[in-house]
Amino acid sequence: MITVRDLVISFGTGRDAVHAVRGVAFDVAEGESFGLVGESGSGKSTVLRALSGLNRTWTGTATIGGISAKIHQPRLVQMVFQDPYASLHPRHTVDRALSEPLEIHRIGRINERVEQALADVGLGPAFRFRYPNQLSGGQRQRVAIARALMLEPKVLLLDEPTSALDVSVQAEILNLLRRLRAERGLTMILVSHNLAVVAHMCDRLAVMNRGLVVEEMDVATLRRAEPREAYTRQLMVASKGYDREVAARMVSFD
Ligand code: ADP
Ligand code: MG
Repeated sequence: MITVRDLVISFGTGRDAVHAVRGVAFDVAEGESFGLVGESGSGKSTVLRALSGLNRTWTGTATIGGISAKIHQPRLVQMVFQDPYASLHPRHTVDRALSEPLEIHRIGRINERVEQALADVGLGPAFRFRYPNQLSGGQRQRVAIARALMLEPKVLLLDEPTSALDVSVQAEILNLLRRLRAERGLTMILVSHNLAVVAHMCDRLAVMNRGLVVEEMDVATLRRAEPREAYTRQLMVASKGYDREVAARMVSFD
């Protein structure tokens, strides 16, 4: 479903250039859930923004369903961001947020679909005419997920979808995503700096460091705590919060 080869993404030029992604490759099969992990600044969001078509300034190959990610395919691919408050328009009701994609794509039975979409993410019909500031963080993220699913995409790109939420709410949203994935056979890429989250959500993962994939493995390997690379082992320790000092030192790994 997704193929990435020799993906190179830079910002700026000359001395000020930032080489955010320096030749990344991976594949994600249809129905698979793929994790992209690594510390802050390693290039995870930059890869996802390229795949979602938000950034079209890159070289190499990135295809979804065999078509270049530079071509916008909203009925195939949707993205969910870390901060649902930023991705929902503050003066638009939930109803408007969910109706809009249907209107743009001239899809009928809007009332019915909006109510169903709310139910699918565990929100009752009472939420329909609320504004984002009348929702909790978890409820907002549920709305953002519902919106991403309005066009029934096959691929969901998730950029730290629970990082802004309280721990208890994080688990609720992750369970929701697991259920939706199972029900709809979604292909997912989940970006996270937290390996525990990826172990819970994904089949396979790639570990990024400074714009490169340093290791790719299945989740069973991660669960057995047997990653090949020292960098990944440090990330595991940091994710579990066992050793803050190690986390603080992680930047020195290359
Ligand atoms: P991650 O999501 O893993 O935390 P990012 O992909 O956001 O990392 O960033 C990777 C690198 O690219 C960082 O050094 C970041 O500062 C830089 N970067 C990302 N987006 C831009 C941009 N639009 N302009 C300049 N630099 C950017
Ligand atoms: Mg990021």
